[in-house]
Amino acid sequence: MMNLPHFTIKNRFQKRPDLYQDILTPHILADVCQRITGEIEYTCTFDNSGYNKGRMAVLQYRGGVSYISFSDTESAGRNASMQSVPSALMSYYEEMRPQKQIYFYFLPSTGNHETSYFYFMYRLMLTAGVKFLNHNDFLTQPLHPFNSVEDVISARNINRERNQSNNSSYVTKSNNHVIQIFGKTYGANKYETTLFCIAFSQISTSKIELYQICEQDLKAIPQRCSNVINSLGNVKIIQTDLVMERNNFERNDSLRSPRYIYNLLARLGAKKCALCGCEIPEIIQGAHIWPVAAIKREAGITLEQKLKYATDGSNGIWLCENHHKMLDEDIITIDVSGNVRCRADMKGANKVFIDWSTTTKKLAPEIMTASFKTYLKKRYILSA
Ligand SMILES: [Zn+2]
Repeated sequence: MMNLPHFTIKNRFQKRPDLYQDILTPHILADVCQRITGEIEYTCTFDNSGYNKGRMAVLQYRGGVSYISFSDTESAGRNASMQSVPSALMSYYEEMRPQKQIYFYFLPSTGNHETSYFYFMYRLMLTAGVKFLNHNDFLTQPLHPFNSVEDVISARNINRERNQSNNSSYVTKSNNHVIQIFGKTYGANKYETTLFCIAFSQISTSKIELYQICEQDLKAIPQRCSNVINSLGNVKIIQTDLVMERNNFERNDSLRSPRYIYNLLARLGAKKCALCGCEIPEIIQGAHIWPVAAIKREAGITLEQKLKYATDGSNGIWLCENHHKMLDEDIITIDVSGNVRCRADMKGANKVFIDWSTTTKKLAPEIMTASFKTYLKKRYILSA
């Protein structure tokens, strides 16, 4: 008996009355055991203390340890199903024994395992080093890890277009080859950003910056997550809260605000110049419509309100460095209908260059929201 594979499973759910032993039947455990060890015989301990974080079983055999994260049997929304995987991944990272593996196992369920969001997450898990035990029985399409961060960004963007409200964390690139992840620190998001960090550290040697966008009274990422992230080596966690942003706002006219970038990513999607369509993230910047310096000069509003305007995702568009400069120099202007105009004194070759490089003559309707128009009026000091 000593040599049989042995499962240890926390038996209780955090928020449900039923037990893991009701779901992880002998038939299922034998299948898991065989796929991992080749053995069908196993022993199992259901542990009734605490509750099961990570929807997970631990299997020990011949000095090795396997963490198995199970899919949700109640086909709940996207968050419930995917929340547990990063938690299991963290247990795996905290495991000190060198012979370790992490797996994902699909349980029978009535839900749809094959939404575009789920496929995105499976690929991210695979990239992070999670092995799938029985996906061929549940998925009709093949599963491939991501090869590069660009791969992730474009897949994320396609996924975003299908469901606008899906995203809570965003990935982009900055100059100097830095990969930036922007995430909020509440709920499932903190685990999702951890999964991003682990996946990226596997496929990229670039510097990765994780910007934690903290809400006023919410704590930063849990210590457990930050320990794992720090152990990856090439990921730097950067906290940003309103106090820090306010100090920065008071000191500088050209605001470098992670919160502003986060809000632009949430509103506009991936970096893409609104005037020429350039998508090279290293040279795309967030361009304020109502400039920071003008907001700071505005009389009769509080500092908090000013900071809100300065970091509002509606107060900006993505522009390449050329078009950002042209906008700031008023070489190009945008009217309240979204028409893009070239300054009247631009002549000859310069006018030709601007007309040629500015392929968008009218901003897309989804950019032209009411609040965006309000900022345009502020910029060009038009009365409503
Ligand atoms: Zn451009």
